[in-house]
Amino acid sequence: MLSNLKGIFRPRSIPEALALLEKNSGSILVMAGGTKLVKSPNDIVQELVDIKDLGLDYIKEESGGIRLGATITLQKLVESPIVNEVANGVLSKAAGMCNRSRMIRNVSTLGGELVTAGPLSVLYCALLILQAQIRIVGGEEFALPINIFLNKKGLGGGLLVETLIPAFKETTVAALVPIGTESTDALACAGARVTFQKGSCQNVKIAITGCEKIPQRLHEAEVVLEGKPLTGPNIEAAAETAHQLYRPISAPLASEEYRKEVSRSLVKKALVQCLESAEDQL
Ligand SMILES: Cc1cc2nc3c(=O)[nH]c(=O)nc-3n(C[C@H](O)[C@H](O)[C@H](O)COP(=O)(O)OP(=O)(O)OC[C@H]3O[C@@H](n4cnc5c(N)ncnc54)[C@H](O)[C@@H]3O)c2cc1C
Repeated sequence: MLSNLKGIFRPRSIPEALALLEKNSGSILVMAGGTKLVKSPNDIVQELVDIKDLGLDYIKEESGGIRLGATITLQKLVESPIVNEVANGVLSKAAGMCNRSRMIRNVSTLGGELVTAGPLSVLYCALLILQAQIRIVGGEEFALPINIFLNKKGLGGGLLVETLIPAFKETTVAALVPIGTESTDALACAGARVTFQKGSCQNVKIAITGCEKIPQRLHEAEVVLEGKPLTGPNIEAAAETAHQLYRPISAPLASEEYRKEVSRSLVKKALVQCLESAEDQL
C-alpha cells in the first residue's frame, strides 16, 4: 500500500508527464499498469503520474524493426501477430511467462515489467537475445542496449517510453527453453538466437536466467558456434561451455546446484530448437 498517497495525475503528453516528475521528484512515481505499485509498502510517495494517456500503447512494425510502446500490456504482446512473427515468437512466449494470470497480464505493461523484473525474468532473457534497445526520456532522450539498461540502477527520474526490437534476417531463428511449473516463475530459462549464413552460424546469442542480479549473455559459449555449422557436436560443445560459465544464484524453489545442473540441457535444447526451426525455414 502507498499509505501516504494524496493524488494521481493523468497527463496527456510526455512533456507534461516529465514536468510533473521533475517538479515533485522524491515524492512522485510513474504509474503504468499499477499492479506492482498496488502492493508497494512505500510511504514516501505522495503522488503518481498515470501514463496511460501518453499514447504509448502501440506495436509498430517498421523497416528498422518493431517498436513497442511502454504501456503496451503483456497480454497484447502475447497475442500480437507482429510480435509472434519475430524470431519464432520468443518475445510473445516470454510475455506470457511474466505472469501466469491473464487478468494481471491484461493490466501490467512492458515498461512496468522492464523496470521491476529480476534475475529470473524470462522477458529479460528474450530481450537479451533479441538485442533490444530501451528508449528513455528525461532531461535528455537516449536509447540504451538492453544489457546496459539492465546493469544500470534506476532510470534517474526518467520515463521509459519504448523498446525497439531490431529487424531480423529471414534466416534468423530463436528459441526460449524454460524449466518450471505451471504456477510459478520459470526456475531457469535459456534463450538462443542464431542467423544462418551459407550453413554456418552468425550473430549467435545465448542467454540464461538465474544469474546474480539479472539474466546474462554467455559470450564464450556464443564464440564456440560463431562461423561453424550447427551440428550435434558443436551444440554439445557450446552447451558445455555455457554450463562451465554459468554462475547461478540460489533462490526460492531452486538451489544454485540445481540451476547449474540443468543449464547444460537448457542451452542444448534451445540450440536444438534453433536447428529444427532452421530446417523448417531454410
Ligand atoms: C496479483 C498479482 C500477482 C503478481 N504476480 C507477479 C509474478 O508472478 N511475477 C512478477 O514478476 N510480478 C508479479 N506481480 C507484479 C507486477 O504484475 C509486475 O511487476 C508488473 O509487470 C508491473 O507492471 P505494471 O505496468 O503494473 O507496473 P506499475 O505497478 O505501474 O509500476 C511498477 C514500477 O515501475 C515503474 N514504471 C512503470 N512504468 C514505467 C515507465 N514507463 N517509466 C518509468 N518507470 C516506470 C513505476 O514507477 C513503479 O516503480 C504481480 C502483481 C499482482 C497484483
